[in-house]
Amino acid sequence: MKTHNGTVVIRNGQLIDGNGGPPVPNAIVVAVDGRITWAGPAAAAPPVPPDATVIDAAGGSILPGLVEAHFHPTYFNVAALEDLDIKYPVEYVTLLAAANARLALECGYTSARSGGSLFNIDVWLKQAIENDICSGPRLAASGREICGVGGLMDWNPDFRRIGMDGLVLLINGPTEARAAVRKLVKDGVEWVKTYPTGDAAAPDTNDHHTLCMTFEEMHAVVATAHNHGLKVTGHCRATEGIRNALKAGYDAVEHGTFMDQECLDLLLARNVPCVPALYFEYASIQRGPEFGMSQRVIDGHQETLDGGAESARMILKAGGCLGMGGDYGFAWNPHGDYARELTFFVKYVGFSPLEVLTCATKNGAKLLGRSHEIGTVEPGKLADLLVVPGDPLQDITVLERRHDFIAVVQGGLVRAGTAKNQ
Ligand SMILES: [Zn+2]
Repeated sequence: MKTHNGTVVIRNGQLIDGNGGPPVPNAIVVAVDGRITWAGPAAAAPPVPPDATVIDAAGGSILPGLVEAHFHPTYFNVAALEDLDIKYPVEYVTLLAAANARLALECGYTSARSGGSLFNIDVWLKQAIENDICSGPRLAASGREICGVGGLMDWNPDFRRIGMDGLVLLINGPTEARAAVRKLVKDGVEWVKTYPTGDAAAPDTNDHHTLCMTFEEMHAVVATAHNHGLKVTGHCRATEGIRNALKAGYDAVEHGTFMDQECLDLLLARNVPCVPALYFEYASIQRGPEFGMSQRVIDGHQETLDGGAESARMILKAGGCLGMGGDYGFAWNPHGDYARELTFFVKYVGFSPLEVLTCATKNGAKLLGRSHEIGTVEPGKLADLLVVPGDPLQDITVLERRHDFIAVVQGGLVRAGTAKNQ
């Protein structure tokens, strides 16, 4: 991805650097050739060269670019789970994914970690973004997901003679699990996304307390992925599924809904990050009836939301690593609403805005495996920044109002915000 040539100075705002400490009032951030060279109080800042590009934060806040840690670029705001597979041809879904990526960047998300993608689109979307063909967050790609036959993501009836070719690789046993990972190795993914457990969306055969994969299958996935330098994560709601994932050597856990003490101990022992992705559940409860969701499914989402919120509090309190991502891409939880996850964590889960911002920046970078480059505002790192009016530590909802953003900066380049047109 190209970076800015020359010096960029962002001034006249408080700095929230992503490390979780108190904000620095009246700060200045300096970036040279796309990398941060100085960040701190204005009074101690080095002199600004006359040809520098100056961005006025107008008394607002300067923070690291946000990280969407559970991003589905190919989900096109679908109203039914079944539509997620091959409702549209790959050509059209690719265009939709590019539009979603641009939107995420405009929303202040300068990086994202894919949580599963149709076809192999996110791998090539990542490439296109890296090569400046289209704009979007720096991506960690996961391609298609892996699920046991008959599990949550295996909904096409056999008589149609299509598997779930667009969305998931279906497996029976460790041998097929290994074969699926090898396919993904060839596809070029970084993260292997699996389905250890079911979900409230499938109350009849694979609800949120059931499994979709065996421990042996999960272990085969991890051994094969790690051999090829890939990381493994999974949709983990049921307690047994979380435990299996952690014992099998998973590198992250999505949702971590029904944690118990043993799961927490396993999680902390290897400092495995967890992405609760709760706004999807909240939106399902709030807007499910509008979209014909049955009361049974809505009740399941409520149980999931309560369990997920409790587990998130438990992990935070124990000093674990949480990332922020909201499973956006459904009609009731559309792309563009990403920062509502952050608001939800402040208003309903009880995190402080500073804790949420650390999860959404520094921890997100860790999830991407790019802590050395992004996630905090520190000298040496890429100048991926978000400049907003107001103070998200007082009112987290300022991060939801993308049209008011002053600047979304990637590698020192202003990609969006009111400063882009100045
Ligand atoms: Zn997801």
